[in-house]
Amino acid sequence: MDEPRDQPAPAESRLHPLAAAASLTPIQQAYGRYVGHALTCDACRDIDRSCDKAELLWRAYQAHGEQAYRRLDGETA
Ligand SMILES: [Zn+2]
Repeated sequence: MDEPRDQPAPAESRLHPLAAAASLTPIQQAYGRYVGHALTCDACRDIDRSCDKAELLWRAYQAHGEQAYRRLDGETA
């Protein structure tokens, strides 16, 4: 293998998470909040996954999806 090693990460991946989030859609931001929480939360890593905050974030993400679907459905009806 002659691929270069130890290259610095591309500039885009070094952006602050909030700077990157500014260009995301609301549904992407909602999903990001859920994933960001789940990755750092001890309760979420528990086998029961009994985390109220994750539940709220997941529902918020799903609500965005349902809104988008209803808009789409309304436009095609
Ligand atoms: Zn959690």
